[in-house]
Amino acid sequence: MADLDALRQELVTANRILAKENVLDSFGHISCRHPDNPNHFFMSRARAPEVLTEEDIMEFTLTGEVVGPTPAPGKPYSERFIHGAILEARPDVVSVIHNHSPSVIPFSVTGRKMRPIMHMCAPIGNDIPTWDIRTKFGDATNLLVTNMDMARDLAKTLGGRRVSLMRGHGSVIVGKSVREVVFNANYMEKNADMLIKALGMGEVEYLSDGEVATADKGRAGFTLERGWENWCNKVGRPYISQEWEMGPGFSKTDQ
Ligand code: MN
Repeated sequence: MADLDALRQELVTANRILAKENVLDSFGHISCRHPDNPNHFFMSRARAPEVLTEEDIMEFTLTGEVVGPTPAPGKPYSERFIHGAILEARPDVVSVIHNHSPSVIPFSVTGRKMRPIMHMCAPIGNDIPTWDIRTKFGDATNLLVTNMDMARDLAKTLGGRRVSLMRGHGSVIVGKSVREVVFNANYMEKNADMLIKALGMGEVEYLSDGEVATADKGRAGFTLERGWENWCNKVGRPYISQEWEMGPGFSKTDQ
């Protein structure tokens, strides 16, 4: 049996870090698949990432129904379906972030492709699609993903990748652990910010497919831990070395 208290702490720390690093503000969320039940996941109730606590973490089915705790600490996020549909479509994924990461949004509304321009950002990949809610659900939605139909359509666009942008809204990013997805979301925001600056200066030299593949493959657990320890310190949360099992797909050697 996994240590679910440790998982709740990990999710709270992840929320604090993502807020501090400008990936989440009062909105956006991170989930983690239940380590003992792949058909459930954990995520906070609808509350800002900077103020939520362990008591706010709720358990859901992959179709977004509340499993617990009872009584519920509050109202769930209306976009929780994003997490369920991606975890349903991707058995390899343990953790999902949906964000409105501000530097990333311009790439969802212009023809400009977001691609990594710096080695730390390589894992976002060279092939990042943009999901447009309008294509299937018309031009009069509020752009929010509020049911499984919409969320499964988004998961389809994501396919087997790590990232999909969402037109006029934000993005989703997935990983094999909370620490991996937080790391890559932080560096995706940095990459987008640097890329906007570089585009203003002229022609941009992107990482090649070979460089992306090699940098991604060489990303060891040590790198993720180094970032996580530093970010824990920045947000005043205890650093707990990752000794416990995060769920399917997680291993200390390949994270
Ligand atoms: Mn959103």
